[in-house]
Amino acid sequence: MIAENLERIRTSIERCALSCRRNPADIHLIAVSKKIPVAAIRQAIACGQQAFGENYIQEAEQKWLELDGAINLHFIGHLQSNKAKIAARIASVIETVDSLKLAEALNRHLETFDRTIRILIQVNVGNDPNKSGVLPGKTEELLRQVGKLPRLQVAGLMTIPPLTETPEATRPHFRALRLLADEMADKQLFHDSQHVELSMGMSDDFEIAIEEGATMVRIGTAIFGSRPAGV
Ligand SMILES: *Cc1c(COP(=O)(O)O)cnc(C)c1O
Repeated sequence: MIAENLERIRTSIERCALSCRRNPADIHLIAVSKKIPVAAIRQAIACGQQAFGENYIQEAEQKWLELDGAINLHFIGHLQSNKAKIAARIASVIETVDSLKLAEALNRHLETFDRTIRILIQVNVGNDPNKSGVLPGKTEELLRQVGKLPRLQVAGLMTIPPLTETPEATRPHFRALRLLADEMADKQLFHDSQHVELSMGMSDDFEIAIEEGATMVRIGTAIFGSRPAGV
């Protein structure tokens, strides 16, 4: 089932990219494997999937060890500074940096591991007081600060939009993230402001996100099926 699901999603991504005149190769599929057992991850790896998204740091570490570090791990959950050390050791990309404190903790641990990684700044595009992410109006300041940390390459922005009734209703949030990224890129605030990553879009709305400029889509349910409840 995982093989068929992956195939179907890759096809949808490609079709969607072509229909909005984008290069399908510019859109990266992150398979979100939170709460999904390692056996299923291995099946996805066997189908050529390399990038996996995990939300919980201990779970991520356990799986990463079981898989001998042979995955490209995107950390996509809320990260506390006191867990930064594990993330700094195992993650290829940390998509959820939203404070200078966290960025500094990551930078410090990366230094000791002698690693440099790509990160994304998580933006709270919905200005939702209960959500993590930096507010749009504070993003420039954070980018300027984090951009000085030598072990972090700020590759772009990520967002988790507010829950909406229909997938189409997320479009303005995706568009807002892209416009913010364009504005920040004009000010050269990314590691490579010519190639800015935008991580947005999940199982229900990834096609809309691609139309709005996503370069990373984070898809769980549509690949692995529904996650066990209450874990
Ligand atoms: C769980 C999760 C996803 C994947 O959601 P699906 O609806 O299962 O595709 C994507 N991004 C984040 C941040 C998540 O926590």
